[in-house]
Amino acid sequence: MELNESSKLKQVREELINHAKAHALYNNVLKTKGNIVFGRGDDSARILFIGEAPGFSENQIGKPFVGRSGKLLEEWVNELKIKNTEYAIINAVPIIPLGEEGKIRPPTQEEIDYFLPLTMKMIKSINPTVIVLLGKSAARIFGKEAMRVGETINYNNTKMHFLYHPAYHLRNGRKGVEDLVNLKKLLCEEEQTKKQTSLGNFS
Ligand code: URA
Repeated sequence: MELNESSKLKQVREELINHAKAHALYNNVLKTKGNIVFGRGDDSARILFIGEAPGFSENQIGKPFVGRSGKLLEEWVNELKIKNTEYAIINAVPIIPLGEEGKIRPPTQEEIDYFLPLTMKMIKSINPTVIVLLGKSAARIFGKEAMRVGETINYNNTKMHFLYHPAYHLRNGRKGVEDLVNLKKLLCEEEQTKKQTSLGNFS
């Protein structure tokens, strides 16, 4: 079931919206006639991508990763042979962070921490087996900004994997596909474990 329509996530979605409206960042939504961006994808996804914060396209449309970064992320999803029902996407912060002259800036640690309890509730409800952190802001949610690209750690019964944000590759005129090697292996291993567990249930 799609995240925005999921009854399982209804309560956390409402809490997030109320919480977001109480933060100074919400002025950005009002000023731009934009949206609080919750998430998209499957509410029981086994793979959860976590990005930074909505950009201009996401703010207008109300869904994460629908602009240029989203296009590249989609290429990665295809490269990794991940099916639509297998993944979901959320951001560290659900509101576009705007700095001087209305330019996009990265969210501050205070802004990331403000949304932390609800980010955790979302993760708990979706219950993924693999979390992919897209860039430093996502890593900051968990105090894991020292992670290296392609590195995986164990985190509360999940595998947490770090990649550079798609926007970083776009800025450097690259696609970043070469960084996906370890994630590809990890997803294959997880798939194998799942198969063995379900076979084990029949023996
Ligand atoms: N970058 C992000 O981190 N998140 C989005 O939703 C879009 C671009």
